[in-house]
Amino acid sequence: MSFQDWEITFEERTEELVEDYGDSWRLKFDDNIEPDNPAQDWFQYIRGAFARFQCSKCKKTWPSRRVLVVFHFRLDGRKRKGTVEARRFRQECRRCQEAKMEEPQFDSDNIEVLLEKLVERIRMRCYRETLDGIQRDFRPVGRSEGPHESSHCEACLKGVCRKAE
Ligand SMILES: [Zn+2]
Ligand SMILES: [Zn+2]
Repeated sequence: MSFQDWEITFEERTEELVEDYGDSWRLKFDDNIEPDNPAQDWFQYIRGAFARFQCSKCKKTWPSRRVLVVFHFRLDGRKRKGTVEARRFRQECRRCQEAKMEEPQFDSDNIEVLLEKLVERIRMRCYRETLDGIQRDFRPVGRSEGPHESSHCEACLKGVCRKAE
C-alpha cells in the first residue's frame, strides 16, 4: 500500500471533523517521531497491526501481526488545522546478510481500522468527546499469524515493540 492509500482513507475519515468542527486535518509520515515521547501539546495513539513485508534483496515476503504504528497528533485551534504525524516500524529479512529495513505494506482494510481508531482518539483528545467502548480495544489490527522475529524488528531493537501487543 502506498502513501496514497493512507492519504485517501485519512481524508475520508477526517471529512466528518471538517463537517462537525470546521477543522481540516492532514497526515504525514515521519520516521523520526519517538513512541511515548510526543512533543509538547501533542497526543499519541499507538497500535500494533498486521502487515506484510518484502525483502528488496531476495524478494522473500513475510507477514507480521506485530507492526507498530505510532501516531502523534495535534490541533491548532486558532488556525483550525490539525496535524497527524505517523511512523510505521520496519522489519528486515532474516535470510539475507546485511538486509535492509523494509517498509510494511498494509491491506486497505487494516488502514481503514487504524485510521478509524485514530479519529476516535482525535475526537476524544482534541474535542473532548466521550466515546463508549474505546478502552477495551487493544487487540492488534488484522489477523494473527506466525512467530515474531524480534532481532529483525525495528521496534524490538528500539525496545518499544511490546506496545504492539
Ligand atoms: Zn532477503
Ligand atoms: Zn518487534
